[in-house]
Amino acid sequence: MQLVTGTLLHCLPKNPVELEYSPHTTLLIDDQGRIQAKGKLADLQKQYPHAQGFDYTDRLLIPGFLDTHIHFPQMDMIGAMEPSLLPWLEKHTFPTEIAYRGRSDVMLKAAHQFVDELLANGTTLACVYSSSNHDVTDLLFEVFAQRGLRGIIGKTSMDRHAPPSLLVPCADDISQQKALLERWHGFDQRLALALTPRFAPSCTSELMQALGELHAQHPDTYLQTHYAENLGELLWIKELFPNARDYLEVYENFKLITKRSILAHGIHVETDAMKRLAQRGAIISHCPTSNLFLGSGLFSWRKMEEEGVTIALGTDVGAGTSFSLWQTMNEAYKVSALRGAAVKPLNLLAAATLKAAQALGLSDLGSLNIGYQADFQVINLRMRPLLERRVKIANSAEEILAALIHLADDRCVESVWVNGKRLRSA
Ligand SMILES: [Zn+2]
Repeated sequence: MQLVTGTLLHCLPKNPVELEYSPHTTLLIDDQGRIQAKGKLADLQKQYPHAQGFDYTDRLLIPGFLDTHIHFPQMDMIGAMEPSLLPWLEKHTFPTEIAYRGRSDVMLKAAHQFVDELLANGTTLACVYSSSNHDVTDLLFEVFAQRGLRGIIGKTSMDRHAPPSLLVPCADDISQQKALLERWHGFDQRLALALTPRFAPSCTSELMQALGELHAQHPDTYLQTHYAENLGELLWIKELFPNARDYLEVYENFKLITKRSILAHGIHVETDAMKRLAQRGAIISHCPTSNLFLGSGLFSWRKMEEEGVTIALGTDVGAGTSFSLWQTMNEAYKVSALRGAAVKPLNLLAAATLKAAQALGLSDLGSLNIGYQADFQVINLRMRPLLERRVKIANSAEEILAALIHLADDRCVESVWVNGKRLRSA
């Protein structure tokens, strides 16, 4: 048993979601890593005199972030300036991903640094695209398991339109997916496999068909891909799949759109496709730092929300320019403002925590309510004096949250806990 004391700032799982700001509050964490009770330290100490205490009195306790879209190999190419998706892939991404293969000290070090960066930024669950190589994906799973971070991880499937050393033919890809599924899917409660067709232009119909079938056989796997990011991409889709009525139907035809699907971007989407996304319960991972970096377009949060689509947030490193979900929220806010409907701070936090968890079917993540997993970050405002000053004069919890969204970063993350264990402390 552990008693962790601080100021809670998190989303309460109500309908609609509410913001709770609760100073001097203690969480009782049980031996399974769950929040068993909440209350005053003195009262809980009386009931649990042997519990270990952690005093974060003047700091904020915020749920760990869920980054629903990030690429492991691409941490080596953040800032590769090429303001258009398809040339960026060809000139920068594919050459970088070729190096991510096999088991080696270099790859092991890269995997640990990737986990270090996620934790340093308060991320406790990441939906990750590895490269197309089996062995490095296996290694990445291993490092996540060892470090205790939550991961929904996939080996990127691609069998066309990329350099030959990145391509894995359909039969080989499926047998490698099965090996990863057997070893890692549900290895412990923290890890899951995501089938990961990169995007329709990278995959033959045969490969998408086979991945759809594998997903149907194992419906608790996730399925992640890119969708409607760029106008050039849309034209290419029309050329490659002339019979599909729209981009979404390409994926629908191969049974790749389910309530376990996480589709990155979704910028250039017609209303009808939004309705189908909502009906199928698929998640859109909105990645604003990437969308601005590549000049992909301005995501319409309001329209997606009106049509009932669940929106989560992704950093999309390395087109995305930061591992930080704070930075991602802040750019999501600016994109929504440019679209004429600014998103509220509460909705941004919910998309980075509770709503993302619910959409992924992880009903005990994303909040600091009783019964939830003790996954949280400790935010020390003193590490960012401007933020501390701004928070001191704020008049409401919402104003504090807004200040965090625009000013917080990895400097403020003092420690990170997953499943009741402290994985990082500054
Ligand atoms: Zn991406």
